[in-house]
Amino acid sequence: MGEHVLAAVRTGPGTTEFREYPVPDVPSDGALMKVEVAGICGTDVKMYAHPVVKDPVIMGHENVGVIVKAGDAFSRSQGVVEGDRVFVEHYVPCRRCEWCHLGEYRHCESTDWRTNPDARRYGYTSAENPYHLWGGFAGFMYLPWNAVLHQVPAAVSPDLAGIVTPMSNGIEWALFDAGVGYDSTVLIQGPGQQGLAQTVACKQAGASLIIVTGTTRDAARLELAAALGADHVIDVQREDALERVLDVTRGKGVDVVLDCTAGAGVTPVLLGVDALKRRAGTLLIQGEMAAFPDFPVKKVTEKAITIKSARGHSYRACELALAQLASGRFPLDRLTTHTFGLPDVDRAIRAVGGEGADGVIHVSLLPWA
Ligand SMILES: [Zn+2]
Ligand SMILES: [Zn+2]
Repeated sequence: MGEHVLAAVRTGPGTTEFREYPVPDVPSDGALMKVEVAGICGTDVKMYAHPVVKDPVIMGHENVGVIVKAGDAFSRSQGVVEGDRVFVEHYVPCRRCEWCHLGEYRHCESTDWRTNPDARRYGYTSAENPYHLWGGFAGFMYLPWNAVLHQVPAAVSPDLAGIVTPMSNGIEWALFDAGVGYDSTVLIQGPGQQGLAQTVACKQAGASLIIVTGTTRDAARLELAAALGADHVIDVQREDALERVLDVTRGKGVDVVLDCTAGAGVTPVLLGVDALKRRAGTLLIQGEMAAFPDFPVKKVTEKAITIKSARGHSYRACELALAQLASGRFPLDRLTTHTFGLPDVDRAIRAVGGEGADGVIHVSLLPWA
């Protein structure tokens, strides 16, 4: 470890600058992690193009690495020692509120940058805060007393651990939020890393019918969806998706629809409402748009549809995601299609956004590669 830590810092819309920060003086209740893998997702694409936090920010919120320095109090309270490989949740919660006691750190006000200007969250917090290293696009990350860590099992390589976040979202949204389980029928819209992780979660939970949709450009992803357990895949540009769903469900529709599309406007929600069964289906939405013109509220009410919001993951979902990866039951290593080193962080984010690289599913940044 030198005296300085190199970091890729977002300094404006679509702009990265490389800066050096001093290696932090780690207090007894803190630790330093060498970043091995920082996963990149669609949120990074949005936050890079249109930053909400105006200060300089080290992005990277899906982080895995090795503890290289741990204070005594940190080791004691977190149960980790130097040399341990951990997945760090991006939430840095208060650990006192009711949400925290439930393991629902995602809902804690202390980590909610939308409502709390002093919130801490890896990949979102200003690098001007003490310790500076609040994101994974850097050689090291600072871990305070209240960081949320998960031990990475020996059977999970750092590369594979790079997809803990989409996998944990898959478990959270499909199983915990939408209640997918034994014999469920599910329509998953969008075969990106998130849709593929939902596919695995649904398959593992016992869904009897999994349908995954994509566009013509998604041919390779749809093929992977089938390899991961989808029973039917639909190219929405070549086929009438609703007709196919009704066809394979013998006119009944599905129990659950999960929207994992990006930039598709109102279409996935409208298809979801129509593809759900006659009564009491569940629709999980991402809410990319600020408003929804002509929302079919009458149809939603008459079909008694429950709408759930995709919003991160709980502690338990992360633990289950790591167990899923450790089991080797599904070829999840096929999700990570591209890796980039720290100097190429701009290219890496753009690749996730569909610019300059082909066949992208999951992209990992390896700061030391
Ligand atoms: Zn993410
Ligand atoms: Zn809290």
